[in-house]
Amino acid sequence: MEPARASGDSRKTAEPARLDVARVRADFPILERQIHGKPLVYLDSAASTQRPVPVIEAVSRFYEEHNANIHRGVHTLSQEATRDFEAARDSVRDFIGAAESREIVFCRGTTEAINLVAQSFGRSRLRPGDEILISGMEHHSNIVPWQLLCEQVGTELRVVPITDDGELRIEDVERCVGPKTRLVAVVHTSNALGTINPVKEIVEIAHRRGAVVVVDGAQAVAHEAVDVADLGCDFFAFSGHKMYGPTGIGVLYGRAELLEEMPPWQGGGEMIRSVTFEKTTFNDLPFKFEAGTPNVAGGIGLGAAIDYLEALGCDAVAAHERELLDKATRTLAAFPGVRLIGTAPHKAAVCSFVMDGVHAHDIGTVLDTEGIAIRTGHHCAQPVMQRFGVPATARASFGVYNTAREIDALAAGLDKVRELFR
Ligand code: PMP
Repeated sequence: MEPARASGDSRKTAEPARLDVARVRADFPILERQIHGKPLVYLDSAASTQRPVPVIEAVSRFYEEHNANIHRGVHTLSQEATRDFEAARDSVRDFIGAAESREIVFCRGTTEAINLVAQSFGRSRLRPGDEILISGMEHHSNIVPWQLLCEQVGTELRVVPITDDGELRIEDVERCVGPKTRLVAVVHTSNALGTINPVKEIVEIAHRRGAVVVVDGAQAVAHEAVDVADLGCDFFAFSGHKMYGPTGIGVLYGRAELLEEMPPWQGGGEMIRSVTFEKTTFNDLPFKFEAGTPNVAGGIGLGAAIDYLEALGCDAVAAHERELLDKATRTLAAFPGVRLIGTAPHKAAVCSFVMDGVHAHDIGTVLDTEGIAIRTGHHCAQPVMQRFGVPATARASFGVYNTAREIDALAAGLDKVRELFR
């Protein structure tokens, strides 16, 4: 099956190409499922996207035709597997606009990527009294690694507050980056609020004061074009499973000159050049940070996910999701008793909401009986829940395969919730 493509080339025409959503949906076999006798309405892409056939096939093809361990083998299968895994690294490089493939470190996902920076860069470069600045809308994976680091090296964690709309104001960032700030770690797009942060401006402020910037790009890469060179960030982390690729694979992009200076954070095979009992020397980038056998199939699947997204076209994807966001926002804002949490003007297609008198989990459970999958809870962002004074939210999040009709289905499902809890 030929995977779906957007009609028209958005780079050549003024009008962004439109997604042929029916064709896109045909690429995702899981969307044919019935849940409790109803067609699946999958509105949980911020937690994990579904996988299209080309990704599933790339992973199966690897196991069926090329499976072997990589880098050290002279035999054909090992060389093929190495070729395909390294080709995926090159695809990642181009996809995010990195200068060199050695700046692309494969890891398990965003969480591991941020922990890598904390444990390698943070432990070797930060000193007692130095400050790490994060925002008030971070996922736990961009909070806890820094707290662990603070305990280990005696640095201080500071937090830029967010507004009632769930925005990070640039003047607050300016105010909070001080002479002791050595590292700024900020989410590109919030999974709990949908807010898209002005990362480029934050990088400029941080760099002016000599701090390095780590960007949590988990919710960004599948929804808008990301160019790390343009953003100017020092590190950028993301996960395959949030961009139509496999789980268990993700990427840390790091500027080569920083990665070069950083010590390895895990020891083992692959990351060494030579080992004696007296002394070990380390491999070149990026292998210095890839101890042990990597997720080879995952890397190859991630490469296929990038090909898939590029064929759809970032602009077409962004335009489609913008339409979904507009409709979902209008629908939810007009729904009696519903309050949106996260109303920043610059948002991704993520709608967090609460409903008077109904716990978010009950909303999610009733919607599931209608075949509608949304996420409920704190979304691994408990400080965001505290900021808005709610224990949890219900969250509908959208991807390339979602349709306006699915938003109508969500509204009909919410009618059921309201009837039940009246
Ligand atoms: N940051 C953000 C903004 C996220 O949405 C997520 C996943 N929910 C993560 C980090 C962590 O990603 P992973 O679990 O794939 O490591």
